Amino acid sequence: MKYSRPDPLTWMDKELSDLAERGLRRNLSAHRGPQRACLQVDGRELINFGSNDYLGLAADARLAEAAARTADEEGCGAGASPLVTGRGATLERLERRLAEFEQTPAALVFASGYAANVGSISALAEPADAIYADQHNHASMIDGCRLSRAAVHIYPHRDWRALEDLLRAAGAYRRRLIATESVFSMDGDVAPLVELADLAERFDAMLLVDEAHATGVFGIRGSGLAEQFGVDNRVHVRVGTLSKALGSAGGFVCGSESLIAWLANRARPYIFSTAPPPPTCAAALAAIEIVCSEPWRRAALLESAAALRDELVRQGWQTLDSASQIIPLVVGEPQQAIRLSDRLRQAGLLVPAIRPPSVPPGKSLVRISLSCGHTSRMIEALIRALSDARTDFAGCSALG
Ligand code: PMP
Repeated sequence: MKYSRPDPLTWMDKELSDLAERGLRRNLSAHRGPQRACLQVDGRELINFGSNDYLGLAADARLAEAAARTADEEGCGAGASPLVTGRGATLERLERRLAEFEQTPAALVFASGYAANVGSISALAEPADAIYADQHNHASMIDGCRLSRAAVHIYPHRDWRALEDLLRAAGAYRRRLIATESVFSMDGDVAPLVELADLAERFDAMLLVDEAHATGVFGIRGSGLAEQFGVDNRVHVRVGTLSKALGSAGGFVCGSESLIAWLANRARPYIFSTAPPPPTCAAALAAIEIVCSEPWRRAALLESAAALRDELVRQGWQTLDSASQIIPLVVGEPQQAIRLSDRLRQAGLLVPAIRPPSVPPGKSLVRISLSCGHTSRMIEALIRALSDARTDFAGCSALG
């Protein structure tokens, strides 16, 4: 397509080549076939350590059957915002099932986990209020803070003592909200949820926990890290996504009836977005049943994550404080992360490079996301490739 001259978009080409020079440009690639432990990317079969499909459910036939049946019965599109035409039968069933699964009075499903965070944070805090946010919170939480226009206090990553100081020094705010991820998406480490729940109670603050990477993976019932730490009934706002361990799409918030009613009235991404499609809701419902009936999936996942982590630390890689199925290998500069990721790709492994702005400058990494669908041979291939790469990266900050 030809645009009229002068083209007002030419500035982008300069900016894009600038990004490329700094190793920060993202290029789109294409994959074929279902999301599984192996993925065909740009025509090549790779072992997939890049997806958040932690329980191997994204391509499970039971989810596909549930989605296909529901597409027949209810169609593919939801048609309008839930506030305009009401919630469809499958969406309503999903919200009831999520509340039961999370053992909260109510739940609300958003179009994505991103929308759930942006919508709930911006509905809970306004300019007269304050938000206390972990330094490594996901972009969707940061954007929720920005949209709220509340005073935002960032505390150092997982440092609840620093948070305590900030809360004690608080100005004259009307309401206060503490917001954190439970399992951090880039570091794979976990938030001190017990201490955060204590602080929320002591300082009369609301506590919001994003369980995006913990739902389906942690806890006896598989509902997340708050359950595992025994603080599920002390977290006022529990956010999750249907797109990772649950293998579908959409986000959710669980909590009291009042919370859910408030969000339905005030969360802009909920109000002004079309409801999630019935087939994806049906797939999520099927996934929740599998999480409940097949606990071996999360047990196997966490067991292989612990073994892999031990091996990589033994090889000398810097894996931060990972305590989950997400294992970062910190290499420092973006170009190094790309080099390591490319090298692993040559060995037939998809392990994405994560660079600023997803991580702070100087902390670029490659991120291993494990799935219970990975066989021991696949994991051995990764261990071998990283052992081979180790000497090549001897001079970089990856090695302890
Ligand atoms: N929270 C966290 C911590 C995430 O990592 C992500 C996805 N990367 C989201 C929320 C957004 O979830 P979704 O992909 O469903 O929009």
